[in-house]
Amino acid sequence: MENCIFCKILKKEIPAHFIYEGNNVSAFLDINPLNKGHVLVIPNEHYADVFNIKTEILQELIGKSQEIAKKMKEVLGADGVNLFNASGEAAEQSVPHFHLHIVPRWSGDGVNMNDWWQSKTKKISDEELQDLAIKLKI
Ligand code: AMP
Ligand code: ZN
Repeated sequence: MENCIFCKILKKEIPAHFIYEGNNVSAFLDINPLNKGHVLVIPNEHYADVFNIKTEILQELIGKSQEIAKKMKEVLGADGVNLFNASGEAAEQSVPHFHLHIVPRWSGDGVNMNDWWQSKTKKISDEELQDLAIKLKI
């Protein structure tokens, strides 16, 4: 993809701090980290989002992400990690090349994921939960 910033990073046209460069998956540091050590794990082939990425590649990417998360605990002394992905504009994806965020977390680090869940949760009835569960069952 010509204008994709992450494809450019993979082609070394734009610099990045890589922590892993495999045949199918790579990982580098986010330049705008939520915490120091925030990593992005991406497929080497351009897939826009979770809807398009090849399942086997996503599986490899998740496996590598687990390794990275463990390393964050080990070498950064992280107490925990957040893994997340934005797929689609509605989900506020800003770079249209699939990427999984891995954010190292420390107790009391001030990063507030709770905002996502606590202040903006929607009211939902048991009927609606039941209806959604039926619709989404796989
Ligand atoms: P998202 O909003 O989930 O699409 O996340 C895109 C992420 O890419 C943001 O966290 C950015 O800080 C990060 N990012 C954008 N450009 C670069 C770059 N050149 N090098 C490293 N990270 C980047
Ligand atoms: Zn790309």
